[in-house]
Amino acid sequence: MRLDQSEAIFSRAQSLIPGGVNSPVRAYSSVGGTPPHLKNGQGPLVWDEDGNEYVDMVLSYGPLILGHGNEEVKEALHSAVESGTTFGAPTRGELTIAELICERVAPVEMVRLVNSGTEATLSAARLARAATGRNRIIKFNGCYHGHGDSFLVRAGSGGLTLGAPDSPGVPKSLAELTLVAEYNDLEDTSSLFKAHPDDIAAIIVEPVAGNMGLVPPVPGFLQGLRDLCDSHGTLLIFDEVMTGFRVAAGGYQEICKITPDLICMGKVIGGGLPIGAYGGRRDLMNQISPAGDVYQAGTLSGNPLAVAAGTKTLEILGRPGVYEALEESAQRLAVGIEKTFARHGRPARVQRQGSMMCLYLTDAPVHNLDEVSATDRDSWIGFFRSMLEHGILLPPSPYEAWFLSTEHDDATVTRILEAVDRSL
Ligand SMILES: *Cc1c(COP(=O)(O)O)cnc(C)c1O
Repeated sequence: MRLDQSEAIFSRAQSLIPGGVNSPVRAYSSVGGTPPHLKNGQGPLVWDEDGNEYVDMVLSYGPLILGHGNEEVKEALHSAVESGTTFGAPTRGELTIAELICERVAPVEMVRLVNSGTEATLSAARLARAATGRNRIIKFNGCYHGHGDSFLVRAGSGGLTLGAPDSPGVPKSLAELTLVAEYNDLEDTSSLFKAHPDDIAAIIVEPVAGNMGLVPPVPGFLQGLRDLCDSHGTLLIFDEVMTGFRVAAGGYQEICKITPDLICMGKVIGGGLPIGAYGGRRDLMNQISPAGDVYQAGTLSGNPLAVAAGTKTLEILGRPGVYEALEESAQRLAVGIEKTFARHGRPARVQRQGSMMCLYLTDAPVHNLDEVSATDRDSWIGFFRSMLEHGILLPPSPYEAWFLSTEHDDATVTRILEAVDRSL
């Protein structure tokens, strides 16, 4: 496989763009080699600058649940472009998408649109702090909530250790307000409440963790978080930026039947354009300005193009059978991958929720970041490189979830499975 064009662009880009990329994982630092620079996409496929073809399982890290170049989404976008790309004034389209979101995601009584998942989580955290008059936030080791200062913190060694920043530039005094518990560990979480009984504004959690591969909640974990919040006057925030409209029409809250106070959304709701949203209980959302005094704003928030692509995407996802079909192809793929590894005598485990999944090279279930880190990373990288050679584009890190779209049909799944077989 030649990557001459990609190499040329990448090497020039490194002198003008930090690391040559506009988001770090794209640089392929954890897998090595030059990232294919993509030029176009159609359905489940993408092509790079050298003309190499790949089955795309990155799907822009989740948004493209309908695959590339969906005709109806393109039509909605074309017509939005004709009408005007941005007004900085309220539009009818914002009401339409708000209606769709509130209808499908029951705990969301009111919603505010922003421009990214990062903005959604940092706005929700501000609201939670304002509404409770408290400062601290609990997050879980290995969960990602965008790059806001309060969230760039993972665990200290013990559950009670105050958060230390993951990145220079995050003030320690702010990071200390972020408490970190082990995912799937209620005891660890409740010990944080014992240490700070009256100062925890919110727990923020990915209800299915998709930023350390794919780690589902163990039975009782999310309910336990709900109970802890209820008994301490703390708000529960589900970060469904990845799972929202991806694992079910109403996101994971619909599957687990636990009602958070606030939900963060993004990715799929933009249909491939930049968007984010947060919403939840009416009494909370009414505290956002100008209804209330918690300030949050955006020049391009509710952008007509993003709203048009998102609305059309949600409309298509609302048609009968869409999630069932995704479930069917994702299940066939996950089972097929495990079988293929088994045939080659290699340990492998695919953890999956609907059309998002992750392959761990281990034979035991994975419940938290420590167990993720204990899986065979070197073999994973070898597998990744081999899959790339065989025309399958996986996310370039063992910690990223893989996605399928409605365009990943039987033939595409077969093609992926054949590549797995040849890669082992
Ligand atoms: C992607 C992601 C974010 C950040 O969204 P951006 O649009 O990249 O800012 C936040 N939370 C979760 C769970 C995500 O997967």
